[in-house]
Amino acid sequence: MILVLVEVSPAGEAVETSREAVTFARDLAAAGGGVPIDAVLVGTPGDALVGVLASYGVRRVHALTGPAYESFCGAAWAAGLLEVRERAGSVVVMAAGTPRGNEVLAHVAARTSLPMAANVVSFEGLSPFTVTRQVVGGAALEEMRLAQRPAIFTVAGHAVAAAPAEAPGAGELVVETPTVADADLVARVVSTEEPEPDLSGALTSARVVVGAGRGAGSAEGFDDLLELADLLDASLGVSRVVTSLGWRPHHEQVGQTGSRISPDLYIPCGISGAIQHWAGCSSAKTILAINTDPDAPMVTKATHAVIGDLHEIIPAVNAEIRRRRG
Ligand SMILES: Cc1cc2nc3c(=O)[nH]c(=O)nc-3n(C[C@H](O)[C@H](O)[C@H](O)COP(=O)(O)OP(=O)(O)OC[C@H]3O[C@@H](n4cnc5c(N)ncnc54)[C@H](O)[C@@H]3O)c2cc1C
Repeated sequence: MILVLVEVSPAGEAVETSREAVTFARDLAAAGGGVPIDAVLVGTPGDALVGVLASYGVRRVHALTGPAYESFCGAAWAAGLLEVRERAGSVVVMAAGTPRGNEVLAHVAARTSLPMAANVVSFEGLSPFTVTRQVVGGAALEEMRLAQRPAIFTVAGHAVAAAPAEAPGAGELVVETPTVADADLVARVVSTEEPEPDLSGALTSARVVVGAGRGAGSAEGFDDLLELADLLDASLGVSRVVTSLGWRPHHEQVGQTGSRISPDLYIPCGISGAIQHWAGCSSAKTILAINTDPDAPMVTKATHAVIGDLHEIIPAVNAEIRRRRG
């Protein structure tokens, strides 16, 4: 049996990445001679959700319930998964390669002392179980063999397209109340704060983005960059260093763990162009880099580059734009 952790949205729906993971599981099940697929989720699902999972070929939906499951807790979710697994005897435990999926399965791997492959994009063989997975933020692929059972892995987002099965599963609902130790509850979500809606929407759809990195030097070092963004009717996008230092808010971050942008023009100022940043801006049609280092990766990849101090260049550009506009 293949056991898939399914994440449920606040609206009570199976999130797309989890539906992708179930779709991936079906290929695995077929290669294994038609082994059944069971889903594990947290909370009591509505009929519609159970129906959707059945349409994806799920035989049983195990719903983890009880006080330990009122908010996210990686160790408690892992305890529940393993309790279901021990009873049903699955050969594979998998999830979507989301922050929660990777965290829960890392707990499962640690508790069973088994290896785990994160962010898998395909499997090549069943014995030994061989997978290809993304590493370095998706910039490289590596092959990995999981020799022991159960095979534990997460599926990279969009490795497959989510699609219902030709033959639906029975979709039998089984309510579970796993035993969760107090020690498993020490790290759990106690409150959540929704980001203000649409804050990064403007960034992801902007035609022009002014980027800023550590080269800005300080929170105050953004004044000229913000003025340039205003003059160009552009959005501001920043590197992770900038958000980590608290110079700018997280919703402005571009990159692997921020927004992915595809503007007509991106102007990264004082950004080195680390692979994780590049992952979020490589779709820009034109890149004009401003940097003191002619060998910075962003400079070598840019369409055009100006080598120099952004604190001299940006005020001069702003002054010239203002002068030309009268
Ligand atoms: C798992 C993981 C996820 C990550 N996700 C992201 C992500 O989503 N987005 C992201 O951006 N990073 C991400 N990072 C961090 C990333 O690896 C880099 O550390 C980060 O992008 C570097 O930011 P930076 O370019 O601003 O700083 P630096 O690498 O320090 O570069 C600063 C640049 O500014 C230039 N400079 C300095 N002074 C001036 C000046 N006065 N004028 C002009 N140029 C100047 C320097 O020459 C240098 O090129 C991630 C890292 C990890 C491990």
